[in-house]
Amino acid sequence: MKEQTLALIKPDAIAKRYQGLIIHEILEAGFEIKAMKMLHLTEEGAKAFYAVHKEKEFYEPLVEFMTSGSIIAMILEKENAVADYRELMGPTDPGAAAEGTLRRKFAETTRRNAVHGSDSPDNAKKEIAFFF
Ligand code: ATP
Ligand code: MG
Repeated sequence: MKEQTLALIKPDAIAKRYQGLIIHEILEAGFEIKAMKMLHLTEEGAKAFYAVHKEKEFYEPLVEFMTSGSIIAMILEKENAVADYRELMGPTDPGAAAEGTLRRKFAETTRRNAVHGSDSPDNAKKEIAFFF
């Protein structure tokens, strides 16, 4: 059964003009892009989106980073989209990411890690509703 996930291209990747390459990889991997928009998160928006991390020491710098420039939000669809897109992204720390993953190719650091993908089908629904 087809499933949807929420993907973001983060400000570091946009600043490096990687958005075209990232979208190309997503399409090559078999995802359909059902919706896409470019926007600039407000501080309030970034805080709300990452509210689950509000007690973490990386929360404030994460919010600062995510509001530092424009992002691209996309609804991706395919079978097993949530898990498959997490696999295409690679782990949070790009130093641990396998060859061929988006974070290996395009991320700088654990914070400035180029892309976001929902981590469960439930969160995918919530995150899609947040942006679309
Ligand atoms: P995302 O939610 O963005 O898809 P993720 O699920 O791999 O990434 P989370 O644990 O949900 O990672 O953390 C959310 C984001 O917070 C990370 O993508 C990264 O930008 C930042 N982050 C997470 N852990 C750290 C850390 N230890 N140091 C700095 N930034 C971090
Ligand atoms: Mg996450």
